Amino acid sequence: MSETVRIAVPNKGRLRAPAIELLQAAGLSFEATDRALSVRVNNADIDLLFVRTEDVPELVADGVADLGITGVDLLAESGADLPVLLELSFGRCRLAAAVPNGSELDSIEDFAGKRIATAHPRVTSRFFADKGIDVTVVPLRGSVEVATKLGVADGIVDLVSTGSTLRVNGLREVGTLLESQAILVSGGRGNGAVDRIATAIGSVVAARRKRYLLLNAPLEAVDTIAALIPGLTAPTVMPLAGGEMCAIHSVVDADDVWHLLPRLEEAGGQGILVLPIEQLIP
Ligand code: AMP
Repeated sequence: MSETVRIAVPNKGRLRAPAIELLQAAGLSFEATDRALSVRVNNADIDLLFVRTEDVPELVADGVADLGITGVDLLAESGADLPVLLELSFGRCRLAAAVPNGSELDSIEDFAGKRIATAHPRVTSRFFADKGIDVTVVPLRGSVEVATKLGVADGIVDLVSTGSTLRVNGLREVGTLLESQAILVSGGRGNGAVDRIATAIGSVVAARRKRYLLLNAPLEAVDTIAALIPGLTAPTVMPLAGGEMCAIHSVVDADDVWHLLPRLEEAGGQGILVLPIEQLIP
């Protein structure tokens, strides 16, 4: 009998919805209700454990879960030394150092001898220690951005994505400690089932960066067009009835589509279609 694989998934916060969406896009059939702590996947021998995002590294390290979805920042803060199987391309943010607008501090080096409030004390302490900069870290659980107003710190280290929360609180960024995004971590006890899940999830992440491109073109334009869209190996070229035109199919980077379309038209491409890809295993 096969062994059930357990995946630790954020139960709330900003990583929950995209994590659930990713698992469903990878082919796992389940219903995530707000309250369930554990959900059985209908079409595979998998249990999803809904836990706090910051608890995921610990639960995977302890072997309670085989795989987990969390943030780079939370893995670093946990101190757990877990293999990162995949970067998931959502939950992007940076752990940044910031100071009040009127502060004389202007760089990471200026923090020497200062107090820094943060919900990431381990990462912050290690970052400054590695640089040989002596700081006092003030650990806080939340509301880090008000710490300087309250007089408990000279600056903060906090997660930033757009920077608008910092601005609203009269703070400006002076340096980055860590770039973060959501990741799939494993406990390193890989087996066939764990590998298959990672491959399926990875196929969705890879597919999101790609598009399937179809177009028709006169035979004499095929070489020019094939050079523009080489695809995963080579574009598929199929003759159309009538003998003068062919259909060309290829996979392209989503980011390149904008620049490719006018060039394909110029080269003689017609009836150009750009389609999303659900999963891609190279
Ligand atoms: P939450 O559960 O909503 O507090 O979010 C937890 C994780 O979401 C963080 O540890 C980060 O990995 C990620 N995240 C992405 N963008 C941000 C952001 N702007 N602020 C805080 N966390 C973020």
